[in-house]
Amino acid sequence: MIIVIGSATPASEVERIIGELSQYSVTIEKSVGKYKTVIGLVGGTSSINPDNIQQISPSIEQVIRVKHPFKRASIDFRHGEPSSVDVSTPLGVVSFGQNHPLVVVAGPCSVENEEMIIETAQVVKASGAQFLRGGAFKPRTSPYAFQGHGESALGLLAKAKEVTGLGIITELMDTSDIDAVAAVADIIQIGARNMQNFSLLKKAGATGKPILLKRGLSATIEEWLMAAEYIMAADNPNVILCERGIRSFDRQYTRNTLDLSVVPVLRTLTHLPIMIDPSHATGYSQYVATMAKASVAVGTDSLMIEVHPNPSVALCDGPQSLTPNDYIELMHEIKSVAQFFGRGQSFTNYIPRVTTLKNRVFA
Ligand code: PEP
Ligand code: MN
Repeated sequence: MIIVIGSATPASEVERIIGELSQYSVTIEKSVGKYKTVIGLVGGTSSINPDNIQQISPSIEQVIRVKHPFKRASIDFRHGEPSSVDVSTPLGVVSFGQNHPLVVVAGPCSVENEEMIIETAQVVKASGAQFLRGGAFKPRTSPYAFQGHGESALGLLAKAKEVTGLGIITELMDTSDIDAVAAVADIIQIGARNMQNFSLLKKAGATGKPILLKRGLSATIEEWLMAAEYIMAADNPNVILCERGIRSFDRQYTRNTLDLSVVPVLRTLTHLPIMIDPSHATGYSQYVATMAKASVAVGTDSLMIEVHPNPSVALCDGPQSLTPNDYIELMHEIKSVAQFFGRGQSFTNYIPRVTTLKNRVFA
């Protein structure tokens, strides 16, 4: 249940209203927006009569029942105001959300060695990324495939952060790694295969770190938002939703189907920021640029792009990884598209034309 209070209401009156609400056995959450203050009641609200709430104060403008099963993630919970996930990085605070410039996250599927992660970090930083991605723990379909270098890879991500100042996004697969991952990651990624691993969601949420929640391979939008709700119910409002393609019937020519319609759909349902990952969605580097530009055109708040110094020898997801030079070319185009839509301020004036990194073999 949402209680909307006019912005001119004195803080003491808002506190009095909250005091009155404490008679109900529900969790009370206050969110002060630009235009309204919204108090959310979460829990057993079905027995609460909205008329009784309305009578608490003339400053209460509206009492609304949230019709969706997701509550904190619901657009109503912030009375239509988009939320912003603000992440501290050594280069400053980077904000994800509809009222902010496009954020770019780039890097290899997995951290393979020091040289490749540092050089990739330098290339992606020079061309406009604010975050470096890279897996230390990899969710592979085959138990015999490369599983990631684990904790040593986390150490290399920390080094890349120290050298470049980029924020770090890396995946958490197992709660036993939570402290090690949280120590390095500025944003913890929950991968598609773990989207409904509810105990992982609760524990990741409880770290207080911003969470990047990838959409499950066959997850409906509602299931995805309910997964976000698990994190938010752990008292962590900082969730970014990442569309990374869903399973459909044709896997011959694309790895997954990029569901770009989620952007306008999610805007009607949730206030949370959105990221699009065209790399895992298409599965082929030749399609990544087109879908990345399309993602910016439909209004994504951020992009995730896989980049590898030499994709042909990548230990993981080489076919979908861009070379540094292809990535740089794409960033020139993304900058223009983002500027067209008024969201290009995150790009530096100068993006190099080509990298000096000559696609060396790092394996
Ligand atoms: C990844 O980001 O490397 C990854 C494994 O993504 P997803 O969970 O979307 O497959
Ligand atoms: Mn990958």
